[in-house]
Amino acid sequence: MTLYDNHNHSQFSFDGKKTSVEKSASAAKDKGLSGICFTDHCDFFVPPLKAAFEHLVPETFDVRAQQEEIDRVNALLQETGPATGPGQPPFRIFKGVEIGLQHSCRDDIRNFLSGHMFDCIIASVHYLDDTDPFYGGYYEGKDWKTAYGHYLETIYGEMTWLGDFDILGHYDYVARYAPYPQASIMYRDFSDIFDAILEYLAHNGKALEINTKTYQDYNGRTPVLDKDILLRFKEFGGEAISLGSDSHDPARPGDKFTHFAGYVRSLGFRYLAHFENRQLKMTAI
Ligand SMILES: [Zn+2]
Ligand SMILES: [Zn+2]
Repeated sequence: MTLYDNHNHSQFSFDGKKTSVEKSASAAKDKGLSGICFTDHCDFFVPPLKAAFEHLVPETFDVRAQQEEIDRVNALLQETGPATGPGQPPFRIFKGVEIGLQHSCRDDIRNFLSGHMFDCIIASVHYLDDTDPFYGGYYEGKDWKTAYGHYLETIYGEMTWLGDFDILGHYDYVARYAPYPQASIMYRDFSDIFDAILEYLAHNGKALEINTKTYQDYNGRTPVLDKDILLRFKEFGGEAISLGSDSHDPARPGDKFTHFAGYVRSLGFRYLAHFENRQLKMTAI
């Protein structure tokens, strides 16, 4: 099967020091993936609690250095093997960014994206209301429904403002680090805001990401992917599903992809998406 991992971090991300473009791309190639995209972090405001712990202000990266390194490793890996297998396309490394959506940073985001060329832009919400769900604060005084619902509404508001992106990243990020027994974000609990998000993605040719980093144990809680979200996307005409491991080390590119590719096929999807030069490419599964 031809599989592309569209969401990975390298040494150019603040939290990517355990790997490099060369290590993660080589690992992806060895695993039989057809390509990998490095989507390093770009967040223009770091919430105070996180900034205090990690001394980060802000989390942007040197795009030129990242892209030069990708060109170097792409050439290197082409030399060390002709193709991923019989009938498969040659292995490719793509240039991306994971842009962190924040209302207060709209001007910076627009300026940054207009100044660079990428293969693929993932739009994600990491921080909201000046908090980082990973460091807490966000969940205080909120029940699970309020916390998850407000996150989804923030995604909708910021992504429709941006427009200029290819993939909606991890809509379920907020559930990973949450303190509630309710570990999964289900369509039935947030149908109105999901309808708005999914209709927008489907009608604007954007891809919905299955972020395989979400579906693992977090403090004894394991979020699951709700098939009703995928089926509703399909009802709106959405076809572009993107698989992303959100890897920060060389062990994870392509993690659980065979499983999730089979799962989306079982729901009636016929393709998986990746992006080259901001153009949507669909590969049959
Ligand atoms: Zn992210
Ligand atoms: Zn990421």
